[in-house]
Amino acid sequence: MSAPRDWESPVETFDGLSAELGVDLVVQRDDLLPFPLAGNKVRKLHAEAREAGWARGDVLISNGGVDSNHCRTLALMAAKLGAHAHLVLHGEAGSREAGVLRLLTSMGATFDVVSSDEIADTIALRRTEYELSSDTVHVIAGGAHTRAGVQSYIDAGKVGLDAVGPDHVVVASGTGATHAGLHIAARRHAERVVVTGISIARQAERGRAAVMEAVGWVDPDAIESVRFDARFVDGGYARASATTRRVVDWAWRQGLPLDSTYTGKAMRGLVELVREGTIRPGERVLFWHTGGLMNHLATL
Ligand SMILES: *Cc1c(COP(=O)(O)O)cnc(C)c1O
Repeated sequence: MSAPRDWESPVETFDGLSAELGVDLVVQRDDLLPFPLAGNKVRKLHAEAREAGWARGDVLISNGGVDSNHCRTLALMAAKLGAHAHLVLHGEAGSREAGVLRLLTSMGATFDVVSSDEIADTIALRRTEYELSSDTVHVIAGGAHTRAGVQSYIDAGKVGLDAVGPDHVVVASGTGATHAGLHIAARRHAERVVVTGISIARQAERGRAAVMEAVGWVDPDAIESVRFDARFVDGGYARASATTRRVVDWAWRQGLPLDSTYTGKAMRGLVELVREGTIRPGERVLFWHTGGLMNHLATL
């Protein structure tokens, strides 16, 4: 798949946010990568595409929530490539979800909406069906939670760390591949930099274990130093407290678009780390923006 090997996203400063926080805030805008619906799935999926050698006419099967950024990014990449995306979606297919499902259909993707315990069987069934018609099938892990996905954020992290020279990096942590990649990048290239993943859904033990596992795929030596902060999950995936929503609004008013599912929780974590003194006044903080604009629009 033709794509720039090392994409760079803009790095921006936000004077208003920096002044109010009392730190030197820099934002890595992966929400502005040159691909529509931009966010961290763009980097992770392009890395997958390169590694697995997706080609025109192939079938790409993956899974995620109905409103998953991973699935719609995959659908768009498949459309651009001339491949077919088949998505196994979990969650509701009610009227609120009709719009996101229509978006997938408009990109030529097909999908099943199933309950969580039917995902694995449905993927296996679809794979068999497509292979019987002699298609080349790639099954991609949900969220592109893969070694290639981690590697894409080691590469991006090195570029960002070199360019910004931060004391801290803060990023939303879901399945953990993005966090894992940035963590390894810091351990390798900027040892004193502290990378904190703010959990957007998982509780501390399970979430940290998943990040550590992903780190271990590439760099077992870096496992122990993983920092995973699960204090701001607000009751789970796509649930947001009034505090998180206030942080989201505060950032939008300073010109930084956030969402309450992912980046708003990460920014709330950053605010708390500053408040409690883990991030000290005047320190340089790289907030790694992972996308989420579609999630925000869906909650308005
Ligand atoms: C998927 C996603 C994340 C989480 O990334 P992981 O690599 O799964 O931890 C964060 N932010 C946004 C906007 C996402 O879509």
